[in-house]
Amino acid sequence: MSKKYCYLFTEGNANMRELLGGKGANLAEMTNIGLPVPQGFTITTEACTQYYEDGKQINPEIMAEIMEYIEKMETITGKKFGDLENPLLVSVRSGARASMPGMMDTILNLGLNETVVEVLSKKSGNPRWAWDCYRRFIQMYSDVVMEVGKKYFEQLIDKMKAERGVTQDVELTAEDLKELAVQFKAEYKAKIGEEFPTDPKEQLMGAVKAVFRSWDNPRANVYRRDNDIPYSWGTAVNVQSMAFGNMGDDCGTGVAFTRNPATGEKKLFGEFLTNAQGEDVVAGVRTPMPIAEMAEKFPEAFAQFETVCKTLEDHYRDMQDMEFTVEHGKLFMLQTRNGKRTPASALKIACDLVDEGMIDEKKAVAMIEPRSLDTLLHPQFDANVLKETPVAGSALAASPGAACGKIVFTAEDAKAWAARGEKVVLVRLETSPEDIEGMKAAQGILTVRGGMTSHAAVVARGMGTCCVSGCSAIAMDEENKQFTLGGKTFREGDWLSLDGSTGKIYDGAIPTVDASIGGEFGRVMGWADKYRRLQVRTNADTPHDAAQARKFGAQGIGLTRTEHMFFNEDRIPAIREMICADTVEQREKALAKLEPMQQSDFEGIYEAMEGCPVTIRFLDPPLHEFVPTEEADIEKLAADMGKSVSEIKTIIASLHEFNPMMGHRGCRLDVTYPEIAVMQTRAIIKAALAVQARHPEWTMVPEIMIPLVGEVKELAYVKKIVVETADALIKEAGSSMEYLVGTMIEIPRAAITADEIATEADFFSFGTNDLTQMTFGFSRDDAGKFLDAYYDKKIYENDPFAKLDQKGVGKLVDMACKLGRSVNPKLHLGICGEHGGDPSSVEFCHKVGLDYVSCSPFRVPIARLAAAQAAIKEAQN
Ligand code: PEP
Ligand code: MG
Repeated sequence: MSKKYCYLFTEGNANMRELLGGKGANLAEMTNIGLPVPQGFTITTEACTQYYEDGKQINPEIMAEIMEYIEKMETITGKKFGDLENPLLVSVRSGARASMPGMMDTILNLGLNETVVEVLSKKSGNPRWAWDCYRRFIQMYSDVVMEVGKKYFEQLIDKMKAERGVTQDVELTAEDLKELAVQFKAEYKAKIGEEFPTDPKEQLMGAVKAVFRSWDNPRANVYRRDNDIPYSWGTAVNVQSMAFGNMGDDCGTGVAFTRNPATGEKKLFGEFLTNAQGEDVVAGVRTPMPIAEMAEKFPEAFAQFETVCKTLEDHYRDMQDMEFTVEHGKLFMLQTRNGKRTPASALKIACDLVDEGMIDEKKAVAMIEPRSLDTLLHPQFDANVLKETPVAGSALAASPGAACGKIVFTAEDAKAWAARGEKVVLVRLETSPEDIEGMKAAQGILTVRGGMTSHAAVVARGMGTCCVSGCSAIAMDEENKQFTLGGKTFREGDWLSLDGSTGKIYDGAIPTVDASIGGEFGRVMGWADKYRRLQVRTNADTPHDAAQARKFGAQGIGLTRTEHMFFNEDRIPAIREMICADTVEQREKALAKLEPMQQSDFEGIYEAMEGCPVTIRFLDPPLHEFVPTEEADIEKLAADMGKSVSEIKTIIASLHEFNPMMGHRGCRLDVTYPEIAVMQTRAIIKAALAVQARHPEWTMVPEIMIPLVGEVKELAYVKKIVVETADALIKEAGSSMEYLVGTMIEIPRAAITADEIATEADFFSFGTNDLTQMTFGFSRDDAGKFLDAYYDKKIYENDPFAKLDQKGVGKLVDMACKLGRSVNPKLHLGICGEHGGDPSSVEFCHKVGLDYVSCSPFRVPIARLAAAQAAIKEAQN
């Protein structure tokens, strides 16, 4: 049977949103529950995808079905397209499965032409209204369907108002509007080279195509990527008979929410405009009145509207956002949907609905967008100042929050300026671990290069500091401490503001408001914890980050990157000494200096985690990252080591790698220098023994993680060192403390041979940053340079470093879990790549049966909520 592409509102219902889009499904549902809805039909999302499959054409089968439904609509309404007695006018609106406010197009008053407008004018006795509809239609059709551009028409309106000496559109007379319609059509012909179409059916097909096309407009593409909406969904089109809010002073149109979308307060909130059509409210050409005033002007319609609001909230059991029109005092509902709301009001509304008995806890958990919690945990910009501040550019929203400060170009300057009380934004080509202290001192970080898992992004997220990364539009002149962006030169000391949640860069200072977490946050999180199966751990490298994560509900640490501890000023000489050592003895001597420092770090982290499990990873990065680059530092190192400057330079040159990410890093360091593994094992075990002694009430089970394993023998080799060292220490201490040795799965070969690797591992932790890099074969630091072209060409819909590629990388994860557990049923499984804090990736982790996800501290609440949503969704299916 061939597919059905059109549905009357009477044929659909709220459960059909995949096919009818949100708007279409809700128009059908409102019709079903007896609310006053101007009737019409919905052209399905499948017709939209077919349109794209057919090379952006509406095929004859779909075209014929649309015509058939126009006839059905004519029968239902008793009106006819182009009729001289009773002409049918319709609105044509987009409506995707997930609401995308303002992203796609709408056309009103379709069906008008020179003859029909005269009929309307006579029949209504209201020529002003008829001509107002016509000129609006020409304007919208030209703009949306033919892409002529609104501004030409607005210029004509302004000219007409000036000529007539009036300031408001409503002051223009019927004659003025008629004259404008003539001018509009002339403008259309001048721009398009053809007459404005008069046949309503031709107009309709043009409008439907335009809505389909708007699915692919640039702003919709960006919105979809930001909101995880697949391109493949397509949009539906709603063809609805017009109700007129612009027929006189007993008419009007409004937009309202059943509760306040900013605060969550249970009180009708919205705006109403008399003698107007919908777009006037949205466009802000006239100032609407608060909805409460509608009660005075239209008491009957308002009373009816209040009842409708209650009916809709009771029906959908959520706050509704509605559009409606009053035509000669009679109410018509044009749309309802679950209203968009601020994160704070989302929590309040969810709790209120539970308290009102409208929904249960699970529904409350399910209705909150996990990523929106970000904004509750970080400072935000003052919304009013934000609106007024020019956007200088935009790049990757790498770490959320708002930052405002003076531009500095080096980590040292960031530290020094911050120390004298200045707020700074650190702008770098890219960051390296050496910049950590400067990053800590900065309000925000902006980098020219780097993706979502680059150093800057990962570290900033860990610290909860705002970061915008990969802004390749910046032309950097580090030497002169300046850069250009969007045609403007920014110098050291200039004010800059960054929004790490949107990736926008603002020219100037925007005040920030601190984050505030209300009681509802704790309530909703408590419910989430009740329903989730996945544990949520954190990636933390310092006691401070660990304590922060604990406050956000982390149940352990899934990844401590020990290399981040080697970069502190007081440690770097010892690590450099180790790298430049010629003999094992020299190396051990240097390592002996590092051991107590590491041990005290680990003790601090164990204390902060209060006995929860802590996974500590062995040193991972290539050694060249630690060697000095400045001449003075090289000279100092040479003096410290009793070597010549040229000997040190030779060592540094020998460490150079063409492909360091694929080079001498991870467990390869331990294979070449087993003494590093010995030192790190000693530091971990001794710290755990010390903390255990201080806290007999805790059961310390340190987890030692070996990175970048690709072959079981590699793991076995390093593990043997760990076990010999650890067992000796534990025995010496007279303790029976247990410990675990596991590995990261971040090389495709490790995933493929996971059944072998699992024989040597107590746990796997999926390092999906490297696993993504190595599976795709592109660099996690540089992919940003070409990923935009991939989005534009629809090759990728998302950044695979931010959202797990379930088809490819995910398949490796799933396979490794199954292979691993097949030989080691007790194998503990987790993820510590950046995907561990991304809601859709968390859902995937739940599905493949991981035991935990681990993410940066500020993303812990997001992961808790996403994990609960995954469990609730699974139970429902
Ligand atoms: C990973 O590769 O996913 C990971 C967590 O390790 P890193 O980001 O430190 O390479
Ligand atoms: Mg890694």
